[in-house]
Amino acid sequence: MALNPPLGEDVVQACGTLKGTIVNKPVDKTALKLLSKYSSLSQAIARSEHPLEAYEQRWIDARGVTSDEQFAYLKQQGLAFDPVDIEHDEAVHRCVEYAKQCQKSHVTDLFLSSFSSGRLDYRSGLAPFAMMQSMPDHGFTQSSAPRFCAVCSGYDIYSGMDATDLNVDRHSAGSIGLLKTPEVIQFYLAQHVQLARQAPTAEDFRIFNAILDTLRSLEAQTKPTEVHRSLKKIDGFKASVHQCRVLLEALGIAGILETEKHKGYLTHYTNPGLAPSKSHKSDWAYPVDFWTGADGVNKEALAFWFGAYPEIRL
Ligand SMILES: [Zn+2]
Repeated sequence: MALNPPLGEDVVQACGTLKGTIVNKPVDKTALKLLSKYSSLSQAIARSEHPLEAYEQRWIDARGVTSDEQFAYLKQQGLAFDPVDIEHDEAVHRCVEYAKQCQKSHVTDLFLSSFSSGRLDYRSGLAPFAMMQSMPDHGFTQSSAPRFCAVCSGYDIYSGMDATDLNVDRHSAGSIGLLKTPEVIQFYLAQHVQLARQAPTAEDFRIFNAILDTLRSLEAQTKPTEVHRSLKKIDGFKASVHQCRVLLEALGIAGILETEKHKGYLTHYTNPGLAPSKSHKSDWAYPVDFWTGADGVNKEALAFWFGAYPEIRL
């Protein structure tokens, strides 16, 4: 398999060119609301030719279905994409190339700017970029599980990747979702490099400092599932339980919330498909899954990411 095969038009449309265009336009609110309701599962159920099972009908009733006209509108706004097939080695190559284009200060400026602007897509570049600090440049390496890479758990070929689903996470949650493989990382980075720079405001610094102060002052036994209770008291920090969770997961991936034994991706690459879980019930991302208040905030990682901002208390 060629390491850098030519890109098909469909891949370019879904993933962008390797030299992204900078855009600085506000996201259309109607389109964003439509995007938040998009689900590839709903679309698949709606397209099925058999009579719907009761659970499928319940899902459709609860989530609705994006019509062809609505999908076309989302595409026109740059928020939706037709499914594409993407090969493992091409995905890794794109991850490496996009990571070279990303500047740390661009990632952190946007991350900070997300707090007062409410633009969760600004926040969503940190975790995938952090994963690229340690992810090895590699070719597909067959694992004992057919079609999965032993290094990164990516597919040999990801058929029908639905980047619109990923974009829902970017805009609604603010970080990378359950899948953290190169196919997904390259999409996040491709979208990130198209975002124009934003300068963080005094309000952004105040909110992020308050988040850090809160994380440093938690009781030793506090688990990640309990942190939202404290963070929601921060004036101006508007985050649902889920948005709070993915923020903590991103800080874990960046190494800011890690443990002595379970390190973030700033210094250690852990195959995301084989990363350990604290318990069989937990589906929190590695490594914050293992973090408690006793682990506190990792000063070295915080300084790596945010040491250039005198406004941030390290
Ligand atoms: Zn791999």
